[in-house]
Amino acid sequence: MSDWYCEELLSGRTEVERIFEDESVIAYWHTRPHYAHHAVVTTKVHADSLLSVDAGTLASVFEVVRAVAALFVAEYGGAHVVTNLGAYQEESHFHVHVGAE
Ligand SMILES: [Zn+2]
Repeated sequence: MSDWYCEELLSGRTEVERIFEDESVIAYWHTRPHYAHHAVVTTKVHADSLLSVDAGTLASVFEVVRAVAALFVAEYGGAHVVTNLGAYQEESHFHVHVGAE
């Protein structure tokens, strides 16, 4: 499984439009959106998935997911909040999609 997040995003090789960033979390607009409005929230320190990320990092990520999702609800009327696992996970780095049609 590839890790676009470590190889491209966190290395700085691929530039993204950031929505929010602090010492542990980045939120940005998806580079190949599946929704009309599609943000991604991810960890700056590698974690494989929701199943293995440590509790402190998980809390930090979901604080940002909540803020981004609130923005989506206010701006677009709703939000999907999704993280993929196992056979549905295409990148081996924990990330959460926030999307709206
Ligand atoms: Zn990674």
